[in-house]
Amino acid sequence: MRYSSQTIAGVPAGLSPRRAGGSAVYKLVRSSRLYEQIVQQIEESIVKGVLKPGDQLPAERELAQRFGVSRTAVREAVKALREKGLVEAYSGRGTFITDGTTQAVRQSLDLMVKIGQPEGSTHLAEVRAILEPEIAARAATRIQDAELATMREAVAAMDSAGQDPDAYIEADLDFHLALAEGADNPLILSLLDSIVGLLREQRLRIFKVPGGPERGQVHHKRILEAVERHDADAARQAMRAHLDQVSDDSQATSAKRGSKQQTT
Ligand SMILES: [Zn+2]
Repeated sequence: MRYSSQTIAGVPAGLSPRRAGGSAVYKLVRSSRLYEQIVQQIEESIVKGVLKPGDQLPAERELAQRFGVSRTAVREAVKALREKGLVEAYSGRGTFITDGTTQAVRQSLDLMVKIGQPEGSTHLAEVRAILEPEIAARAATRIQDAELATMREAVAAMDSAGQDPDAYIEADLDFHLALAEGADNPLILSLLDSIVGLLREQRLRIFKVPGGPERGQVHHKRILEAVERHDADAARQAMRAHLDQVSDDSQATSAKRGSKQQTT
């Protein structure tokens, strides 16, 4: 922990700030937290845009040489960066900068939902209901061919998922995220990515409702058609209808389980 200027200023008269703070304390903390300085430097490079998502970090040995530290310190730094969600390490390929915002937002929301149970998931569903119709409307005018292709593939994957909940749910997430990508605003994408991932459990319950996946697909196809026609109003309406259906199916399962009903 650092001594803030207020702490030093708040030292009673007669005690010198030097005795209270002491520059030796700073040095001691810093030298024992070498890897934190590396983390800080890399974080700063990300904030300044020198390092961008997708960029590869140099190899461990090279980093150690550049920073003038041991490989152990570099390894510790990379571990800390991974825990913060700022880099991802792929064995054999190297370490890459990620878009840390998504993980940071997801962790905060995940915690909020857990603390706020059982209302947490109701609140999340409400956020979705506010965001997704507008996302669909914006995507209808801004979407690129690559994202449209992802949406089509996701719809096809859900059609052929059969009784496999994982295949269906993954494709469902892909569908909604491709749409958010199509809205062409990285903050919207990051927000939605954080939210839809948390609704996995709800999706699993809906998958088990008789006819649930089929009803979902009717709406997915309507949304896709509207976006393909670049019809923003139709896309917005189709997404609202989809979320109403999700809410209805979710209430059906909640009622069966005897837990609190959704009110979205
Ligand atoms: Zn869906």
